[in-house]
Amino acid sequence: MAGYDYDLFVIGGGSGGVRAARVAAALGKRVGIAEEYRFGGTCVIRGCVPKKLYVYASQFPEHFADAVGYGWTVPEASFDWQTLVANKDREISRLEAIYKKNVEGSGGETFHTRAMIVDPHVIHLLSEDRTVTADQILIATGGRPAAHPALPGHEHCIFSNEAFDLKELPKAIMIEGGGYIAVEFANIFHGLGVDTTLVYRGQEILGRFDMDLRRTLHETMEKKGIKILCHSVSESVSKRPDGRLDAQLIGGQVLTVDQVMLAIGRIPNTENMGLEGIGIEMTAATGAIKVDPYSRTNIDNIWAIGDVTNRVQLTPVAIHEAMCFVETAFKDNPTAPDHDTIATAVFSQPEIGTVGLSEDEAVKRFADIEIYRASFRPMRHTLSGRDEKMLIKLVVDGASRRVLGAHILGPDAGEMAQLLGIPLKAGLTKDDFDRTMAVHPTASEELVTMYKPTYRVKDGERV
Ligand code: NDP
Repeated sequence: MAGYDYDLFVIGGGSGGVRAARVAAALGKRVGIAEEYRFGGTCVIRGCVPKKLYVYASQFPEHFADAVGYGWTVPEASFDWQTLVANKDREISRLEAIYKKNVEGSGGETFHTRAMIVDPHVIHLLSEDRTVTADQILIATGGRPAAHPALPGHEHCIFSNEAFDLKELPKAIMIEGGGYIAVEFANIFHGLGVDTTLVYRGQEILGRFDMDLRRTLHETMEKKGIKILCHSVSESVSKRPDGRLDAQLIGGQVLTVDQVMLAIGRIPNTENMGLEGIGIEMTAATGAIKVDPYSRTNIDNIWAIGDVTNRVQLTPVAIHEAMCFVETAFKDNPTAPDHDTIATAVFSQPEIGTVGLSEDEAVKRFADIEIYRASFRPMRHTLSGRDEKMLIKLVVDGASRRVLGAHILGPDAGEMAQLLGIPLKAGLTKDDFDRTMAVHPTASEELVTMYKPTYRVKDGERV
């Protein structure tokens, strides 16, 4: 090891890479980390963090409207997009500096450069035009929005990256896709006053989630005024003489908007890094780096974590994989990341918080399923008069009584999903939920007060 410049060299300064660099450096390892853009990666710079800030921004009109029922008179509010963008920039710059400082404070060395692997132990740092050597190399270069070259006029479209920093807030936007990003941005833009249309090729938005939540969220978003076109897809986008865009949809409908945003998935960043040259194995479909259960590539001293491996594209998963990598590579404690029962949230409005199996998935795997379901108006919407339902649902295995899935749609569902992640991960049963005292008055008390199944599904038949 002493023959190399570094014990560990990390390529990519996002959530996963920074965590691995910081923890390995704190163990006394000689660590270098290269980032070509900004430390913090997608999550901090152009993902989760700015997204959540924009979600907050977009919720104020509803807060102002709801305040009236509680006796407040709220003068007419106005919104300034440039102020939001500037304040967001200030906050992410602060976080970016913390990410960098955390690595350096632990004894790691940071580089602002693109890095290429030229040999299994040699990395070329492009901006500095020099090479360094490392015993272990970790690739954590993340991903980027999937492009859509097959769509005529795709050059007129934007992705989530650009959506955060538009010079002007559009008057009308079309968003293509039905996943996390499309749904979250549809709610953000609508909340900020933009005429918003979501175009999704499938039957219902947010595939992979529980159908009950998907349908109820769809209805609620439409009630707010977001247009959702399912079984639809754009065929071309063209620029009009007035600078606006015409999105031609399948079936002939044309949407005239100021921006078309594509949110059709994300792909791994594996190009132009020398990976083919040294023989790193990647998947044919997405170019994701193939790894074993311990995040090791086919080359013994090269590892990969996070979105570049396309296992589960979530920040906390990348961080978990980083911690497991350090255990395996530097603490002689082989630890495989556990990708089972991951709690997750969609910051739609209302939010989705979910962990475990959806009803449909559970029915495929278990012969006797109990569904506990409560749909109600949350207390805060009684005086506000807002016509919005909250949905809480537990999916239970009738044989073992184990809670297989917990699904929530409503205010603070993301916070609840985090807490529900613990009992579901621990494999607790419905009886454990039943003997837990409720916290009153809360919405989440429904989780422990639904004593009788709403219905059962036996051998695929609802009874
Ligand atoms: P998703 O995989 O969630 O959704 C992609 C959507 O695009 C799907 O609805 C898919 O349809 C559709 N689609 C794919 N290809 C096409 C095409 N050629 N034409 C039209 N539609 C298409 O990806 P996102 O981009 O929304 O997000 C990427 C990942 O980032 C997520 O999977 C998630 O892991 C992560 N993320 C997490 C967030 C969170 O935790 N809150 C927030 C944002 C992102 P179909 O369903 O038919 O395949």
